[in-house]
Amino acid sequence: MSERSFDLAIVGAGICGLAHALAAARRGKRVVVLDRDAQANGASIRNFGFITVTGQEEGECWSRALRSRDVWAEVAEAAGIPILQRGLLTIARRSEALAVLEEFAASEMGRDCRLLAPAAMDAIGDGLRTRDFAGGLHSPHELRVESREAIPRLAAFLKERHGVTILRGTVVHAAAPPALTTSRGKIAAEAVVVCPGDDFATLHPERLAAYGLTRCKLHMMRLRHDGFDTRLPPVMSDLGMIRYLGYSKLPAAAALRERLEIEQREHIANGVHLIVVRSADGSLVVGDSHHYAATPDPFAPTAVDDLILDEFALVFDGPAPEVVERWTGTYASAKDRLMLVDAPSDALRIVVITSGTGASTSFAIAEEVIADLYGPVA
Ligand SMILES: Cc1cc2nc3c(=O)[nH]c(=O)nc-3n(C[C@H](O)[C@H](O)[C@H](O)COP(=O)(O)OP(=O)(O)OC[C@H]3O[C@@H](n4cnc5c(N)ncnc54)[C@H](O)[C@@H]3O)c2cc1C
Repeated sequence: MSERSFDLAIVGAGICGLAHALAAARRGKRVVVLDRDAQANGASIRNFGFITVTGQEEGECWSRALRSRDVWAEVAEAAGIPILQRGLLTIARRSEALAVLEEFAASEMGRDCRLLAPAAMDAIGDGLRTRDFAGGLHSPHELRVESREAIPRLAAFLKERHGVTILRGTVVHAAAPPALTTSRGKIAAEAVVVCPGDDFATLHPERLAAYGLTRCKLHMMRLRHDGFDTRLPPVMSDLGMIRYLGYSKLPAAAALRERLEIEQREHIANGVHLIVVRSADGSLVVGDSHHYAATPDPFAPTAVDDLILDEFALVFDGPAPEVVERWTGTYASAKDRLMLVDAPSDALRIVVITSGTGASTSFAIAEEVIADLYGPVA
């Protein structure tokens, strides 16, 4: 590859890198995105494709999720990415969980959400064990896309509509504007944004070391389901309310945590909570679990999957659907932040989503980073 010149080079073609490419291309910048993999393979295609608003931490994260949801809606339409589900039904199986939902509904973040009695949940869709529920909360904000198809389509859209150059199979060994050293030669770029996902070792490891990063491994499954009610939105339950900061930071969450620690100790030890989303063929993507390590092992014990399926069986009626696919994913994690933007120089930014929120917040984060590099939109 002979030397080529761009306004902005982005390392990483996950959702974080592609979101930066979109924000810069919308300002007329000549953008190149480089990724070591021949096809999308990181966290961005292993997730639920669930653009979650309700449940995100109050403040910046929640606002970024709302903004990102709007960008997803625009881009999905323009790029031909199907929106497969909308909204979120958070189920309270216990009275303590209902108390969390009531507190949430009374907050600013709950403004457009609706508390539901179990009988009213039957009207949303069939197949739930509503007789066992204390209540629920319906949020209208969320979107669900099929990530393994949406991410390649987003990349193709950036290339075709915005003239973004995407160079796959290209490892970036050094990123210091105005030059990048890659496995396919040098690239010239006035500015660089590094979006490395959970690779903290290749580029600027000394900068990233300051953030005390680790990795989180998650178990995911696809279930065959011939009769899933297409009216149902994505579903979560009690265990999610002690993981999602928008709920878990509410005072009422303390009593829920106490009860869950007695009743679902194993689930909590494995970071298990339930998210269920539907795909175009009717199958369900179901997860997940959370295990932290600098280098997560590659093993996926079925006992962890069984914990996820236990919770599924307490939320949905009928026989357990067949598991047709299993995979794991990893993402970057930090104890004290949901994301980081590091600025080693005026023309270089390192952006890492250090939580399971990248699908939900990257578009907004990218707009902020691009505004920081090039100034606010006129
Ligand atoms: C199982 C699972 C479920 C999740 N569920 C949700 C959810 O429901 N909602 C939500 O909002 N978020 C969710 N997340 C989190 C979300 O998927 C991540 O936050 C997001 O995908 C991170 O995007 P990224 O672009 O930073 O990383 P990645 O998608 O991992 O992309 C990073 C890319 O950088 C490339 N790269 C790194 N270094 C180099 C280099 N030196 N040279 C070339 N290429 C390089 C890699 O090859 C990779 O393609 C989930 C994550 C997982 C794993």
